[in-house]
Amino acid sequence: MSRSTRYDTGRAPILVASTMTGARVSMEKIVNLAKRRGFVFPSAEIYGGFGGFWDWGPLGVLLKNNIKNEWWKTFVQQRDDVVGIDGSIITNPKVWEASGHIDNFFDKLVECKKCHRRYKIDVLKSGKWVTAEGEDLEDQSCKNCGANDWTEPKSFNTMFRTYIGPVEDTASKAFLRPETAQNIFANYELVRDTMRLKLPFGIAQIGKAFRNEITPGHFVFRSREFEQMEIEYFVVPGTDDKWFEKWVTACEQWFFSLGLNKKNLRLRKQSKEELAHYAKATTDIEYAFPIEKGWAELTGISNRQDFDLQQHGEFSRKDKSAFATAVDDEGKVKKVPFVIEPSFGVDRTALAFLLDAYEEQPDRLVLKLHPKLAPYTVAVFPLLANKPQLVEKARTVYKLLQRRFMTAWDDRGNVGKRYYSQDEIGTPWCVTVDFDTLEGAKRPKGTVTVRDRDSMVQEDIAIEELTDYLRAKLT
Ligand code: ATP
Repeated sequence: MSRSTRYDTGRAPILVASTMTGARVSMEKIVNLAKRRGFVFPSAEIYGGFGGFWDWGPLGVLLKNNIKNEWWKTFVQQRDDVVGIDGSIITNPKVWEASGHIDNFFDKLVECKKCHRRYKIDVLKSGKWVTAEGEDLEDQSCKNCGANDWTEPKSFNTMFRTYIGPVEDTASKAFLRPETAQNIFANYELVRDTMRLKLPFGIAQIGKAFRNEITPGHFVFRSREFEQMEIEYFVVPGTDDKWFEKWVTACEQWFFSLGLNKKNLRLRKQSKEELAHYAKATTDIEYAFPIEKGWAELTGISNRQDFDLQQHGEFSRKDKSAFATAVDDEGKVKKVPFVIEPSFGVDRTALAFLLDAYEEQPDRLVLKLHPKLAPYTVAVFPLLANKPQLVEKARTVYKLLQRRFMTAWDDRGNVGKRYYSQDEIGTPWCVTVDFDTLEGAKRPKGTVTVRDRDSMVQEDIAIEELTDYLRAKLT
């Protein structure tokens, strides 16, 4: 960690990523833009917010929906071997017994004895501590006050508890899921049989997960409520190494296909010391986040072997091999399948795309989001708001485009200001209806200007060709 950096209680790190990793923007700027333009707000801000919880605003929800749609299109719709489910957030607590979450889903916490700042730590097999963001605390003084006097590590289970029904006793205790994966394992047999699936096949799910994080922070990077996009891909044991590599590549490619800068992404294989006890291999796709550690996990791909299915076999049927019925095309395999798990966080992914897209130019701020991710695909302006014929024509164009694309309307100020405003939220194309649209003079009648966000070049396009023009650009 650089000593010249300032760190503010884990919530608003004043760090510029470019000093460390090549990314170009501080987290503070993204937090400000996100709030000012309606991407993300502190949850219940009118009551002072609520640590570790965030509300996604009108533009944030469009961005997240686009991310989830693109993910689903790539990993479910366009594949023959993956189907989706939507499991319940609260489920039978036996699921969490079998998965090991009740016994093992603990975070370790140490506290600085002088300033009482708490840190989430991982204790490596060597006994060494690192914080969740990767700093080595044992050799380092407290980031907050500089002291080097720590409490012993304490453990606590990070699952949120709740009670089902009116009586709050042990029998009614349940948990909010800390990951979406276990719904998939618990439904493995039903999905396989109802969809007549043969190995290898995958089950995907997008949904909320909850973790009572000790130190939420770095904006939406680590929160207590977030969304995951996970796939459990079941394979014949022995083919798992090959599938693991294929999934690492497929996940990395997905980020590149949506324009993430290659130099801000890297693959990191977890060392034997770091691996979860059930994992044969884990590769993290890391992004150069503007946080102290710099590179941090964006997505993880794990070879979980047959651990989860064996556990659910044991806990539900007293038979570790209960799910050894999955067969390959020749009907030969009778082993419990191995599973490769690509696990994405929606919020962290949205944050990475926002950071990556942010560009300050001399006379404008532009979010160069991939057009498929931008909250609005197109904005429509009447050149002048006080000319009813212009406004009326522009409204028809707006209504036409709205049928196909998320479309913004803006008639405030002048066109320059409107471009500026749309650039800031990443709208790739702006359509202006002007006097030539109505009368034709310098341009043919019935045409509009389409201005490109990145090149700022304007093209003349006929209104009836606009939809096809934009569709072609998007694909
Ligand atoms: P970390 O080491 O950062 O705590 P993890 O290894 O616990 O992450 P996983 O359990 O592998 O994370 O979860 C898969 C993905 O879910 C992560 O790669 C991340 O994108 C997302 N994720 C996990 N915890 C959080 C959180 N508290 N807030 C936001 N996203 C999260």
